[in-house]
Amino acid sequence: MMTNQQIWQAALGELELVISRASFTTWFKNTYISSIENNKIVICVPNAFTKTWLEKKYNKAILKAVQNITQERIKEIIYKVENIKAIPKEIPQTAPETNQEPENIAVTETIRGVDKSGLNRRYTFQNFIVGKSNELANAACLAVAKQPGMVYNPLFIYGGVGLGKTHLLQAVGNEILIKHNRRKVLYVSAETFTNEYIQAVKRGYAKEFKDRYRSVDVLLIDDIQFISGKEGTQEEFFHTFNTLHQDNRQIVITSDRPPKAIESLSSRLLSRFEWGMIADIGTPDLETRIAILEAKCKEKKYQLNDELLQFIAKEVSNNIRELEGVLNRIIAYHQINKLEPRKEDVKNIIRSITSPQLKNNITPKQLLAAVAEYFDISINDLLSKSREKKITYPRQIVMYLLRKEINFSFPAIGQELGGRDHTTAIHAYTKISKELLEDEKLRQDIELLKQKLYKNQ
Ligand code: ADP
Ligand code: MG
Repeated sequence: MMTNQQIWQAALGELELVISRASFTTWFKNTYISSIENNKIVICVPNAFTKTWLEKKYNKAILKAVQNITQERIKEIIYKVENIKAIPKEIPQTAPETNQEPENIAVTETIRGVDKSGLNRRYTFQNFIVGKSNELANAACLAVAKQPGMVYNPLFIYGGVGLGKTHLLQAVGNEILIKHNRRKVLYVSAETFTNEYIQAVKRGYAKEFKDRYRSVDVLLIDDIQFISGKEGTQEEFFHTFNTLHQDNRQIVITSDRPPKAIESLSSRLLSRFEWGMIADIGTPDLETRIAILEAKCKEKKYQLNDELLQFIAKEVSNNIRELEGVLNRIIAYHQINKLEPRKEDVKNIIRSITSPQLKNNITPKQLLAAVAEYFDISINDLLSKSREKKITYPRQIVMYLLRKEINFSFPAIGQELGGRDHTTAIHAYTKISKELLEDEKLRQDIELLKQKLYKNQ
């Protein structure tokens, strides 16, 4: 049987797949399972605020995650406040702050080990597997870690979800702390930066905020695309950037897209992002995926038979986080059933982790219905051959959203829209993506549609 701690570790592994890292760190820090009885699980949280958030926002996801791990055994979750320690009275900060961690508590590794610098010791260059898809980014990061502020400044890394951007960014910080231990390193997600900034202004801590960010030697900022459209934050970041850059202090930035493709980014920030070096991370090839999976097995001390390993590496091809998610679930399966999963089971595990529906809980039908309703046309119109603009435009939006929100492949999108060709889907997707950069009305439409889609979740 798995211990409570193992179950929670595995469940957190699942949650990491569906929740942004900033939220994950904020809300799941210092949580643990205190008991499991009669299909009920009691999760302890550090304060009432967290309790409310987990209940209101994440209960569904948490339940699903523990059910995945325990194979449906759990039906209900109870959240209980276990007062650990008072929150330090500093500038309001959502950044991980874990010197406060009590020893006797089962916190996951993902969160344990994050210190004031926001760094998690788990991410290093040593455990980062290098292949064609990431060798440029890896080399640039190594160079920066060796001589911070001297080679590329800023260094801008971009690439899709789950491909190792955060890992590399954190590795830079960890390496600098080892090699140049007097340097002040700060890792922060752009989301946290934004939230802290807003809080700081609201509560009259703007100066402390500025000082804090402008006094570091190395600023590592993750998922910068988050500041898209946030003018105040962009302005603040612009000044932070300038102060640091003028002083040859190192800035490393990651993003899920190249600087030019970040919507509503001020042109002066854009030009600064392009000052230094820009490196992308692509999807790993099969050999790299195999090597990564082998490394993760070793790390988790799990022996996966070679056939399954090859199979998984082949099937899960464009997201390393999902690759790890599949492995976690296999390990959980093995521990619970005392039996290595068969290929059929592994197939199911892969399907449930990578299937688009699971990700956003939205079906293509719901998406079509929402768009049809929004534009006041019928689903049949969307599927029809009509070339009237009032139909073609919403149709293109559907195709765009199928790709963007539920990761449908282009051929599958064509299928879903009454058997159209995949090139039509590609065309629609690129067209809408491009127009989004300039068309404010379209942006609003998409935003409202998304709200409509997700409001019941
Ligand atoms: P991103 O920030 O690009 O979304 P992450 O850096 O969070 O992705 O990576 C997702 C997971 O995959 C992490 O657990 C990370 O350690 C792992 N990972 C990604 N790339 C590699 C790699 N090349 N070698 C080893 N682990 C990797
Ligand atoms: Mg990341």
